[in-house]
Amino acid sequence: MKLDILAFGAHPDDVELSCAGVLLVEKLNGKKTGIIDLTQGEMGTRGTIETRQKESADAAKILQLDARENLSFADGFFFNDKEHQLSVIAAIRKYRPEIILCNATEDRHPDHAKGAALMYDAGFLSGLSKIETSLNGVLQLAWRPKYVFNYIQDRYLHPDFVVDISAVMDAKIEAIKAYSTQFYNPGSLEPQTYISTPDFLESIIFRAKMFGKMIGVQYAEGFTSKKVLGLSGFDAIVQNNT
Ligand SMILES: [Zn+2]
Repeated sequence: MKLDILAFGAHPDDVELSCAGVLLVEKLNGKKTGIIDLTQGEMGTRGTIETRQKESADAAKILQLDARENLSFADGFFFNDKEHQLSVIAAIRKYRPEIILCNATEDRHPDHAKGAALMYDAGFLSGLSKIETSLNGVLQLAWRPKYVFNYIQDRYLHPDFVVDISAVMDAKIEAIKAYSTQFYNPGSLEPQTYISTPDFLESIIFRAKMFGKMIGVQYAEGFTSKKVLGLSGFDAIVQNNT
């Protein structure tokens, strides 16, 4: 199945926290979307592999994803090396996305910057036909996504562009709350963590409001890009008074 937009996250919930809104906006625009989680988040203080699998499947339904997979890399200990690059290349060639969304280039969790570097390298290498990968015993064709964008997650980074997600903000919060073991849940008996306080969920909303304010809309998600973005015309710009 070919996807238009494929989002990668080091941990299940990275994508929901950072760019679930854009995925849903694009889905409602008729695009095919998917998520590939690099690890199962097994080092997280709260929850288990099983609960996180159920949670990410629930979030996938809310986001109307066409595909979601997990590469089962080691949480905290995966590397940007040949072995991991080949696994990511096989996933990119399987779904042939035009655009990849991936972790922030700098962030609180060290897996995020590692994930970003891995995606940049694999995204490029995937286009080299002499690198062989196979799916179900069949050699895959080379595929290079046109853009790899980094979403902004925990640490503040100045965005290169932001996307209006006002129409889908409620669904984004619902997708985040699908991870009931990870985020604020008054009924949970597990230890409190950096991300399980009510303040953390509020900070997601404030960040989206702040990015939205930059372009004169209610909520937005922010991204950085190594490539310069070209516009086909000025109609694509949100032309609000800011
Ligand atoms: Zn993460």
